[in-house]
Amino acid sequence: MKKTSSIWLYCLAVTSLTLQSCSRNPVTGKKELIFMSQEQEIALGAQSHPSVVATMGLYDDTKLQNFINEKGKAMAAISHRPDLPYQFYIVDSPVVNAFAIPGGYVYFTRGIMAHFNNSAEFTGVLGHEIGHITARHSARQQTTQVLGTVGLMAGMVLSDKVRQMGDQAMQGLQMVLLSYSRAHESESDKIGVGYSGKIGYDAREMAQFFGTLKRLSEKSGQSIPTFMSTHPDPGNRQTNVNQMAQEYQKANPGNYLVERDSYLRMIDGIIYGDDPKQGFVENWNFYHPELKFQFPIPRDWQYENSPIQFQMAAKDGKSMMMLTVAEGKTLEEAAQSVVKNYNFKVLENKNTTINGIPALAMVSQIQPEQQQGTQATTTQTPAQDPKTVVQVGTWLLQYNGIILAIHGMAYTPAFNDSFGTFRGVAEGFKSLNDPDKLNRKPDRIRIKTVTRTASFKDTMKNLGMPDSRIDELGILNQMQPTDPVTQGTLIKVISK
Ligand SMILES: [Zn+2]
Repeated sequence: MKKTSSIWLYCLAVTSLTLQSCSRNPVTGKKELIFMSQEQEIALGAQSHPSVVATMGLYDDTKLQNFINEKGKAMAAISHRPDLPYQFYIVDSPVVNAFAIPGGYVYFTRGIMAHFNNSAEFTGVLGHEIGHITARHSARQQTTQVLGTVGLMAGMVLSDKVRQMGDQAMQGLQMVLLSYSRAHESESDKIGVGYSGKIGYDAREMAQFFGTLKRLSEKSGQSIPTFMSTHPDPGNRQTNVNQMAQEYQKANPGNYLVERDSYLRMIDGIIYGDDPKQGFVENWNFYHPELKFQFPIPRDWQYENSPIQFQMAAKDGKSMMMLTVAEGKTLEEAAQSVVKNYNFKVLENKNTTINGIPALAMVSQIQPEQQQGTQATTTQTPAQDPKTVVQVGTWLLQYNGIILAIHGMAYTPAFNDSFGTFRGVAEGFKSLNDPDKLNRKPDRIRIKTVTRTASFKDTMKNLGMPDSRIDELGILNQMQPTDPVTQGTLIKVISK
């Protein structure tokens, strides 16, 4: 969870995209139905970009930023649409992903940057993403889930209404992260091969990176990166891209760059995996060192942290909780916006304090969907089966200059049974003072020079890496445990 409330403000009007026109596709040269003009594409990108930034945050690294700008601009110039106002960003997410939004916005996560092993892999993926933009694939975009945020909710017994509530914060972003068809993915792979070749890089390395994606997806317990879940099987793509790259180089002979060492030196020190600054769980407590608070997690509940919210759910799926940042400067303002955003009917509310923190507690019911947006011309509420009405306990806390909202939800008949649990979490909210938690450091990728030739596994041991991380390090380095690593090779390790 990050200190951002602005995400609530961004919502894209999908309906405005339905304006249709017929134009020539810049890549294929064919006439086709395009759902937006170039001006609309640019406007959509400009409108969506702040929600990407608000949700994920930008990763602050001047060296990396300069690198992606330089390669991005070089590639934009040789692309089919050099006139777009391209922009390139690294977002602060551990997930291995890259994505583009219309109008020329291209994003790489720090997670994918940590997994590349050379500049050629990067430029291949860059070409693929720019390809989605230049071939105007966004015209037929479909929304998709991102960051696995709703993964926890997927198995919930609770209704879609509750799921929507959890998802609301993500909606702005869901609009812009697209699920492309297989045909579009293949087309973008082909474009990526051509673009990276044109700026001098060896596109066979891009094929290599699909091997990394495949291994990541096979690793147990690993949530499937969006880059993969929305993309065709990486195994096939590895073969296809490799073949296309070889054909490209046969037709355009030359010395194609890989740039392994300079790329690795550039990512030396990049944050790897979760950043504890964004909150972490330990011994059934959630700690947020940056916002300096903690609260207990009900024992044996499932939980999921994302940059904009923290969700928890009972294993039986019958009750769930979430913590987010609420809109508003005062508890009263926040209460008003929460009631409006979620269409709450407030049953009771009172001001209180929790461990010395000013708070407002409410119990509400989520009103039926059909009432949303209707004029208040009638006070008649249609009778509803209480079994399908979701009741919510909300605690708003004014803490460190922001308002945090804790919601506990269950169907009305089960609400009273769960209420004690909800209240236990809310009343366990307190300031975080433990220096051990406040100063928790993230893992980082460090680049080492191998001093004597050995197998990858032994090399990692020699460098002090535990056995438990050999698989993970093998994926990061694109190596197998028995692969020989020669003296002088640069290699990635993980340390604080
Ligand atoms: Zn793609």
